[in-house]
Amino acid sequence: MFQRARPLSFASYLFKYTTPTSSLRHYSFKVFRDVPPLRKLRRDLLLSKKTVGLVPTMGALHEGHISLIRQAAAENTDVFVSIFVNPTQFGVNEDLSSYPRTWDADIAKLEQLNEELGSAENGRITAILAPTSKVMYPTLPPSSEIDGDGSFVTITPLSKKLEGASRPVFFRGVATVCMKLFNIVTADRVYFGQKDIQQTVVIKRMVKDFHLDTEVRIGPTMREDDGLAMSSRNVYLGVRRRTAGLVLIKALKAAESAYQAGKLSRADILDGAASIARETLAHQQGLSPSERALFEVFYISLADPDTLDEVGTVDPAKGAILSGAIKMAPLEQTNSGEDCGLGDGKVSVRLIDNLILKPLD
Ligand code: AMP
Repeated sequence: MFQRARPLSFASYLFKYTTPTSSLRHYSFKVFRDVPPLRKLRRDLLLSKKTVGLVPTMGALHEGHISLIRQAAAENTDVFVSIFVNPTQFGVNEDLSSYPRTWDADIAKLEQLNEELGSAENGRITAILAPTSKVMYPTLPPSSEIDGDGSFVTITPLSKKLEGASRPVFFRGVATVCMKLFNIVTADRVYFGQKDIQQTVVIKRMVKDFHLDTEVRIGPTMREDDGLAMSSRNVYLGVRRRTAGLVLIKALKAAESAYQAGKLSRADILDGAASIARETLAHQQGLSPSERALFEVFYISLADPDTLDEVGTVDPAKGAILSGAIKMAPLEQTNSGEDCGLGDGKVSVRLIDNLILKPLD
């Protein structure tokens, strides 16, 4: 069974999870642990008419993050990358304690990227913001409880839909930490991946409703060669669950093909996706426990791009968002020598993915 993350005291949380070991070394960018020195740099950049793009991340960097940083460097003189595993977006029973933390590898990737960027006509990574939890939550310990105390940003009803239906504090945590980061960095542009499409809709709404003076830019989803959307959590999958997990993108692609073939009704678009999910699960269930990878489908959604309301018929002038989420269950039985991923196949892994159905001409 998946081990539940035991709640940590605030003090042990600070000690265990917020202390990158190598923050004192010299890099081609500055590493900030606190707000005032970063603000000073930001002010200097503003006075010298430089532009700043912010890429918020939780670390465990992969090509998806790197592509956003490249985009930010192409559109700004200076890129700020934040690395902060934000506790308030993890529910009390979610994987905060097992979320991958790879500070040294992350910094090495960012250094390498800066070397590449240095030779071209674009901006570079100037600052990494890796704040402690106490810096980000200066008054009260960060609460993941639904009715927990604290200063939070809530964007409803968007935050209750799709991912929010089974993760009630998730978008409150995301919006809250992004509001903090936006206020700290005051970036000209902020960069988010299409991979987390609901997050992009929530952040755009937050920027609009709170009159935040920044432009939200969305980068395309980076994928592995087989189509799996890159994610920091993929390291937990292992070969067997990774292969079975492709069911999600296959189902979404079938739905996309139906739309591209001219289908507009919900049933016509989603039926093919539902059959792929059903047949793949039935196939896995027919295998022995040492061969199979079981999963649960949380949702396959066809939604309005602005409101995320489910649609019965796609308005061809508007298009729609096709998205899905599945949970790869822990492996029931593992075989010697099998690559079961980090955590030896015991950690359940939530996979999300989406495709945008563009308006038809
Ligand atoms: P995370 O570290 O998971 O919070 O992600 C930080 C940013 O990277 C978010 O804007 C994500 O949407 C984006 N991101 C994550 N995975 C991908 C991907 N496969 N392709 C593009 N962007 C991604």
